[in-house]
Amino acid sequence: MQSPLISRPNLLRRIPMPLLAILVGLFCGLFVWLVLEQVQPRALKSIFADELKVRLEQQARETLIRYNNYVTAHTSTIRLLANHRKLSQYLEPVHWLESDREVPFVYYNTPPWLPNTALWRTLIQPSHILLIDKQGRTREIYQVGKRNLPSELAGINELFSSENRVQALLTTLGDEPYLLVSETAEDATGTVMGLLMMMAPIDEQFLTSSQQGVALDDVVVGLLDADEQRFLSSSDYKRLPPGVLMEKVEHDYQVTDQSFFEYEGSTINIQFATLVPNTVMEVIRGRVAGLERRQRIITATAFVTIFTLVFYLLSERLNRILRRISLFSRRALGEAQPIIEQGNQLFVLEDWIKQFIRLVRDARDEMRQQHEFEMQESEALKRTIMEAALDSIVTIDETGRIIEFNNTAAQTLGHDRDEVIGESFAELMLDVKNQPVFRNMLNSFLENPGDQKEEVQHEMWAVTREGNQLPVEIAIKPIQLQTRVVFTVYMHDMSNRRRAEQVIRSLAKFPSESPSPVLRVNQPGVIIYANAASAPLLEYWGCEQGQTLPLYWKKRISDVFLSGKDWESQLVSDDRIYSLLITPVVDLGYVNIYGRDITAVRQAEHQAREHQQELIHVCRLSTMGEMATGLAHELNQPLSAIANYANGCVRRLQLSGNGGDDILHALGQINSQADRAGEIIKRLRSLIGKQPPIRSVADINQLVKEVCSFVEFQARKANVVIEQELSLVLLKARVDVVQIEQVLLNLVRNALDALLEIQEDERSLIIRTSCQAGGYILIEVLDSGPGIQDEAMGRLFEPFYTTKQSGMGMGLVISQTIIEDHNGKISAERLEEGGTRFSIMIPSGEERDG
Ligand code: ADP
Repeated sequence: MQSPLISRPNLLRRIPMPLLAILVGLFCGLFVWLVLEQVQPRALKSIFADELKVRLEQQARETLIRYNNYVTAHTSTIRLLANHRKLSQYLEPVHWLESDREVPFVYYNTPPWLPNTALWRTLIQPSHILLIDKQGRTREIYQVGKRNLPSELAGINELFSSENRVQALLTTLGDEPYLLVSETAEDATGTVMGLLMMMAPIDEQFLTSSQQGVALDDVVVGLLDADEQRFLSSSDYKRLPPGVLMEKVEHDYQVTDQSFFEYEGSTINIQFATLVPNTVMEVIRGRVAGLERRQRIITATAFVTIFTLVFYLLSERLNRILRRISLFSRRALGEAQPIIEQGNQLFVLEDWIKQFIRLVRDARDEMRQQHEFEMQESEALKRTIMEAALDSIVTIDETGRIIEFNNTAAQTLGHDRDEVIGESFAELMLDVKNQPVFRNMLNSFLENPGDQKEEVQHEMWAVTREGNQLPVEIAIKPIQLQTRVVFTVYMHDMSNRRRAEQVIRSLAKFPSESPSPVLRVNQPGVIIYANAASAPLLEYWGCEQGQTLPLYWKKRISDVFLSGKDWESQLVSDDRIYSLLITPVVDLGYVNIYGRDITAVRQAEHQAREHQQELIHVCRLSTMGEMATGLAHELNQPLSAIANYANGCVRRLQLSGNGGDDILHALGQINSQADRAGEIIKRLRSLIGKQPPIRSVADINQLVKEVCSFVEFQARKANVVIEQELSLVLLKARVDVVQIEQVLLNLVRNALDALLEIQEDERSLIIRTSCQAGGYILIEVLDSGPGIQDEAMGRLFEPFYTTKQSGMGMGLVISQTIIEDHNGKISAERLEEGGTRFSIMIPSGEERDG
């Protein structure tokens, strides 16, 4: 499914990811740049200002230190010179008189009290070196440079005290700053003669020299009259000529001024200043700004690169995760999730999340609906269960008041729901005697909340609205709700059960009342129960109830247990015959023995069998009769012929006179023997010839029933049930009962024989009797056998026609003779649906044969 969000034309969505990553990276870089531009210069300016201040102070300190070092070089030099051998040697013979006020002697070359100039002039640039006596009067002057001795100094007599130590003094002489350094001068004996003083003008050269060896660049140092804020001297007169006021130079320089602490004896308040031109500052500031811009560019570029890369990698990773989640969600939710191969995965992710959330929301709504539906269903189901419950269900609170009850309760007890809600259950629905019991049941629940899960049952009497009592079984089940306990009371109406119990009890009496023996024997063969009718059986077995059966029967019973099937058997005692049906009840471990006294039945069967035998005998007899009649008829002819021919021969021989006596005798014998044979046959015929039938009025239906009982055994063997469709009207006929039974027996046997030729489940045999018009009774024998072929049909009633191996083919012939004797008719026909029908029509009625 393509997302509608994706299909929407959107340039951003079409931009490939790397390009978008770069664009976003550039945008972020620009943003960073702008932010840095706002923040960085300000921060840098303050850092720069602080740094500059520190640097300037550092610079100033360094310049001052260098200056001091330079001054120290002068003091060291003066000490060296004052202690030099040349000075002490020179002073040894010298003696300056107090009164001697001569103009000091001026040397323009190295004086005799100083060592060679080259030795000590490497560093310092003094203008004069003075030799001053103890009174402070300048006695000798060494003019080192071209500069004249300042006038202020020319007249000074007591410039320094005569203490024996090196002294350095910073002072202005004629508006020019000077460094005066002095040291005690002694002669060779160690006598203090005065001072050796060096004067160095602190001019451009001095200050430049003091900063020698250091790249001063544009830094200028100067001495400042602190009171007037005026420069006395500087290291660069061109830029900072002496006399310039501080305020004039403050625009162009960064000035750091420092005080001299070493020269506290100075006559004026002099300060040391270090000046850095603003132009230099601007160059440095410009350099810093350039550096800062470079750094900003590097930062922004790094940011762009890293962000682009991270964004790209992240989006790639997201894309992969997205695809996987998309596939997963497609499987899980059964709906496609947007995947595009190109373009911006972040937007796809956005679409995806939107769609996913929509799907999840849909699913949640669906689930909620489903849940609500299920809840409703479950609620309805519970309600239905409660309403459909066969037991009365009443919900009560802990005080026993009714909260709810179901339809069955309403119907069983005849109460209206609205009337009973809030009423006390026990008082309203229970018999007075049972009310305390019920309350005790409730109380025991409330007092032992631990047992509340148990269910308690009691049999009680409920009372209906009409005041009728009803036996009920009451079960109470506590239900722990969040804030309280309620109870469900189940009332099971026991009226039916009581009735059923009564029925069961009366049923239990059944075997004891049965006239036939009924016994129950357990698996080991012990008689558990025996009814009164079993007494003859027990007597025969020689045991009583509670005792074990004889070994044979014990064995039979264990066989029945093993097989799990009924077993039928006969027991013949001295005078009685019992049929015993042993039925196992395996689950309960016993067998039931149902006995039946069949002595009478067996006797009847015996009689019937005898009757049958008699019938068979009669059958055979009549068959023999028929045969004999036939034989006699057939033999009579040849015998008569033999007698006649023998007679003829005798007569001819007698007439011709040719016959010997012996031949005549022989022929006479033949004749008499043939006559004798004829007589025997005649007698035999008369002996077994047709007897006058013994007729009596008989019930044809009864006759049929008897015939069926004769062949019952044979029918059972053939697995055939003979159906008797007997006329409801009494069918009476005057017949020879034995002969008619013989006919019917023959027909039924033939039918059973025919049925053996077909499948068992197709076998059917019906005997039907009916009353016919004209005062006839019709007896039909129908079978579902193979039927009779056309050719056979014509020969059925011929003597000796049979299709059976052991048949005689006389049955139907005799039957026809008998039926015809009764003025009736017998016929056979083939049935359309297969099988054969034999029909016998005999006249009904009780009238005597004419
Ligand atoms: P038998 O039974 O000794 O053969 P019957 O005279 O009773 O002599 O029968 C003659 C023949 O008629 C039988 O062999 C049999 O072929 C035929 N038959 C008789 N009854 C039936 C029948 N119900 N179905 C088919 N064939 C029959």
